[in-house]
Amino acid sequence: MRDDLAPLTLLGILCFFGSQQGQAQQAVCGGDYVCIADDSVAAAAAARRDQPSAVAKPENLAAQERCAEAPVDISAASPDERRLACSAAKDALQLLGNCGISLRRPLNVQIMSEVRHPFSGAIFGLFDTKQERVLVTQEANIPSLVKDTPYAELPERDFYRSLIVHEVVHGVMHQNLKRKSTSHAAYEYPAYALQIASLPSSVRDTFLQSIPNRASPDNLVFNDSILFFDPFFFAVHAYQHFKAADNGCAHLNGLLVGEVAFIPTLPP
Ligand SMILES: [Zn+2]
Repeated sequence: MRDDLAPLTLLGILCFFGSQQGQAQQAVCGGDYVCIADDSVAAAAAARRDQPSAVAKPENLAAQERCAEAPVDISAASPDERRLACSAAKDALQLLGNCGISLRRPLNVQIMSEVRHPFSGAIFGLFDTKQERVLVTQEANIPSLVKDTPYAELPERDFYRSLIVHEVVHGVMHQNLKRKSTSHAAYEYPAYALQIASLPSSVRDTFLQSIPNRASPDNLVFNDSILFFDPFFFAVHAYQHFKAADNGCAHLNGLLVGEVAFIPTLPP
């Protein structure tokens, strides 16, 4: 379904407008294929498609295991997948822990053969706010999703780990959120910044260099238009802005209480 970037961008637009029109109050798509969604979104999608109310099909063969490193429960078909997800979750918790942000309660992570956006097709993953569960597409099905994107240039395993980091960051930030944002960019900034931070340095450099026309981190403003029309640009700049700050952690903690100058807020 995704031969080029056009349908990906369209997916982001649909999610954005659905949210703004009140049809999907908690649909927050990071760029175009990493989403936060709640049951109202799933229910709306189910009604439209006349399908069961779910954003991902249950995995009958999946087994659940709690990570040794942290109270994160991983559901996946194989021990290798569960091990990898635990390792990535640990990285995400460490990056957030450096900023004093930690899990409030166990987090559920499900590795699925396919995760579908409520209003469109297959996506990398999403965070379901209602059920507080992270859904991630299994690694074997990632190549078709990264095709023709800058992510295709990165080693698959490294990118995949970073994808899990991204979604776990959503989950932990959600648990600590004190004030909901009206901006999708506010949810995606920490997820992308820490996703890129989690990449090995050489891989990160490859990704950063794939995005031209980088601006000075001092002058960056993040908004939903940039997020939806160029999520890769958004990701690179979120990372650079976070790293360039005297205290990037202040940005993350500011986002939890809805107070950051670099993301304009919309009236509620
Ligand atoms: Zn996201």
